Amino acid sequence: MIKVEHLSKSFGDLVVLKDISTEIRKGEVVSIIGPSGTGKSTFLRCLNLLDRPTSGSIMIDGMDILTHPTAVTQVRQRMNMVFQSFNLFAHLSVLDNLTLAPRKLRGVDRLSAEKKARDLLRLVGLAEKAHAFPDELSGGQKQRVAIARCLAMEPEIILFDEPTSALDPTMVSEVLAVIRKLAREGMTMAIVTHEMDFARDVSHRVFYMDQGLIYEEGTPQQIFNDPQKDRTRVFINRIRSLTRHITTSDFDLYALNSEIDIFCERHDLSRQARNNVQLLVEEVLELHRPRLSAGPLDLTISYSEKAGTLELFLDSEAVGGDPLEPGAEDDGLALLVIRGFSHQLDYHLHQGRGRLHVLVKPD
Ligand code: ADP
Ligand code: MG
Repeated sequence: MIKVEHLSKSFGDLVVLKDISTEIRKGEVVSIIGPSGTGKSTFLRCLNLLDRPTSGSIMIDGMDILTHPTAVTQVRQRMNMVFQSFNLFAHLSVLDNLTLAPRKLRGVDRLSAEKKARDLLRLVGLAEKAHAFPDELSGGQKQRVAIARCLAMEPEIILFDEPTSALDPTMVSEVLAVIRKLAREGMTMAIVTHEMDFARDVSHRVFYMDQGLIYEEGTPQQIFNDPQKDRTRVFINRIRSLTRHITTSDFDLYALNSEIDIFCERHDLSRQARNNVQLLVEEVLELHRPRLSAGPLDLTISYSEKAGTLELFLDSEAVGGDPLEPGAEDDGLALLVIRGFSHQLDYHLHQGRGRLHVLVKPD
């Protein structure tokens, strides 16, 4: 359906896309992952002609859209985009947001446009919000309206640019559920996302982009479980862990706990495992509190799907010896709790710093 050949894009001297060649087939869902600043948005924007490629070609069903004179209008109709920031018209009701483009650009009459809009609102679960204004909706609802508005143009392909990145964590799943539904119905989609579990189970293929290239592509299984190239491996391993750099004893433990909640949920960990890791984190940080004056603490929680293990690392300045040696009386309780929730526990030197390593009890 879309065939891209030797696509490149520079902004002045900055080369953002270097020689991308690929295809997206009809009915296919492609997820695009990778570090920020590697050109993922630019790639989607080039496909949709929001950015003009510097060279290369983009064919849609055999039509070269970079040379074809009426390409822009046609392309925008066939390929619609959903943005991170919703981009709804604030002064229009939800219904009017959905009917505006079909009426103005496609000449659909008001009645048919409204009927279609109501059907689409039902599809995204927002039929009762037809007369609300964007301000009255939550972020998740706004994004679902934006998806319905995109569908109102009856596109053949939808491009999503981080559709859940601007949302509160509690609202991510309602938006992903709508996109999953479209995938099941066979919609052709390219989705830039940081939601790895979603990318894994919704896509037929995954593009890992790095430094302006599709550095590695494959099935979700290949990219997430068995990446072949170095940078893909580093990226995939990093997203399997949660890291926090802690510099003061006033850090926000509640925020950290809710990140741990999300992390555990993503990896489908049991409630018990989540409680264990939260208790461990709290006590391990308590134990290391005195060391904060010597330098920051680096906390890493890491889950290995293969081994089924959940590990916690806490790196600190190596002062005051082994924190597991019962010393100060008030550390006694923290240590007791830590031992209680650990499967295995040790302290060693790692890259010049002290590292506490805990294998968390799974249940
Ligand atoms: P990603 O979506 O992967 O985070 P982007 O495609 O947004 O990456 O950006 C890639 C690079 O291109 C970044 O260095 C960004 O600053 C630059 N860039 C993007 N759009 C423009 C623009 N309109 N003008 C200049 N530089 C841009
Ligand atoms: Mg981007």
